Amino acid sequence: MRRPLAALVALLAAVVPTVVTATTIYPIDRAQILAGSRFDFKVELDGVVNPAAVTVTVNGDAPEKLLGQTPQFVDREKGVDASALILRDARLTTPGRYVISASDGKTTKTVTWTVYGTGPRRAKNVILFIGDGMSVAHRTAARILSKGITEGKYHGLLAMDAMPHMALIGTSGVDSVITDSANSMSAYTTGHKSSVNALGVYADRTPDTLDDPRVETITSLAKRKVGMAVGVVTNTEVEDATPAGMVAHTRRRSDYDQIVEMFYDSQVEVLMGGGSANFLPKSVPGSRRKDDQDYVAKFRGTGYRIATTDKEMQDAAADTTTTRLLGLFHTGNMDGVLDRKFLHKGTVEQFPEQPDLVDQVRAAISVLSRNPQGFVLMVESGLIDKYSHPLDWERAVMDTIMLDRAVAVAKDFAMQRDDTLVLVTADHSHGLSIVGTVDDQAPGEAMRDRIGVYEKAQYPNYPAADIDGYPATLDVSRRLAIFFADFPDYYETFRPKLDGPFVPAVAGSDPKVQVANPRYQSQPGVMRREGNIPRDSNVGVHTGEDVILTAVGPGAERVAGFLDNTDVFRIMVEALGLGD
Ligand SMILES: [Zn+2]
Repeated sequence: MRRPLAALVALLAAVVPTVVTATTIYPIDRAQILAGSRFDFKVELDGVVNPAAVTVTVNGDAPEKLLGQTPQFVDREKGVDASALILRDARLTTPGRYVISASDGKTTKTVTWTVYGTGPRRAKNVILFIGDGMSVAHRTAARILSKGITEGKYHGLLAMDAMPHMALIGTSGVDSVITDSANSMSAYTTGHKSSVNALGVYADRTPDTLDDPRVETITSLAKRKVGMAVGVVTNTEVEDATPAGMVAHTRRRSDYDQIVEMFYDSQVEVLMGGGSANFLPKSVPGSRRKDDQDYVAKFRGTGYRIATTDKEMQDAAADTTTTRLLGLFHTGNMDGVLDRKFLHKGTVEQFPEQPDLVDQVRAAISVLSRNPQGFVLMVESGLIDKYSHPLDWERAVMDTIMLDRAVAVAKDFAMQRDDTLVLVTADHSHGLSIVGTVDDQAPGEAMRDRIGVYEKAQYPNYPAADIDGYPATLDVSRRLAIFFADFPDYYETFRPKLDGPFVPAVAGSDPKVQVANPRYQSQPGVMRREGNIPRDSNVGVHTGEDVILTAVGPGAERVAGFLDNTDVFRIMVEALGLGD
């Protein structure tokens, strides 16, 4: 799936040096920091200043007293006409409130941090499921399609519904009310807020994308402090923002080559998904690397079993000597379940042996549970987002059902024991809503006249789900009417896209203006919709509503009411007892 044009523009903007403004301190004001976790401390000063005029204090003392080292003074930051102080790998081991002040002799900036410890370890394992972009409507539609509903009553619950604890999660980042998957995942994996396109760092003002102040990930903490195994499982490219958030430190999520290197350095025990193009040297056809490094060979060289098909993955997992597994099943994003299992569209012909996310999770749990110290596993159903951007809700909802089946596997594992915390959430929402049904039998030429609202909606007539929870067809005569709140110019067809994933808009004669894709123009009864977001976007965007978190297992009782996304990190590290 192409990255939305707007995101590309944002990426480019991210590397342009920003105008120097008032003094800034990282970590930011009101940061919550896990006791003993590593972070980079940075003070960005307003202009080039005389080091003799600069004073920095932590709780009124010289910073080295509590942070262990003296920050380095940088006269002129690269690409910025201003001075800074930086201290890499700082840590605070005593819980409490910390007041940090920085002055250049003229103005003073003060921030407050809260350092928190954790009690004793209560969970051996944590499994975090991310439905990327999964909104309330995805969950409701998945329940309708998978379980069925008559007379207002569902005939069953999703595995992610049937969990005892639930909370709303706020998703906004440092820089914007609207998040992308990079900074929202960073909040889950580091407990610190970040900015759009940034992973495991506070986005600073220098153009270098790899020098920004870092914060430690749960992957690093779990391995460094307790020797746990870590797994990262997705059906997008493994370098994509959500999986990358488990290990990466970069201000630019598209630093794919470097992210592969960071995965290699992290030595996570299980890494599975698409995205092999950035593991292969540039001489190999299909490679997207800019150098000749062969990361498949490097992983193999440090003891990883390599799988490129479903069968190789299952065989590797079944072999009890496998404790490290790299599964790369596609050069780019894998295909969703609608195309893989039912329609054989998308890129299924090119990559016919992709595993199902459910089987990836089974394989990952088999391999990771061989570590006696326990494991942290992150599973992303990433195509929920990839399909929601182009308004292809049927594909997104089928992948929500797939996520739920994977959750059921994890719950089964957790039920046989009482030491595993399972969390299911999203990283941000999309603006879709269920407004009624579309009835092909209703009178009217235009499809919009066949929308049933209120009592005219009745219920959709999807067939009962198969044994895996999927309806055998989505192309029924009375189906859900789901529309998006934000969209480019496009033709609303009111029908599932059976010929392959929806492409709502394409570049017009002016490449900066995306126009409704004429391919759908002649479908009977379609409606052209004038977009309501900037014209350079060819897809819909993320939205700012809260997402739902459901949880079960030791530590899950803290999941209640409204939580910030950074609290999800805190719940996980508290369950694992990872604080000093
Ligand atoms: Zn997205």
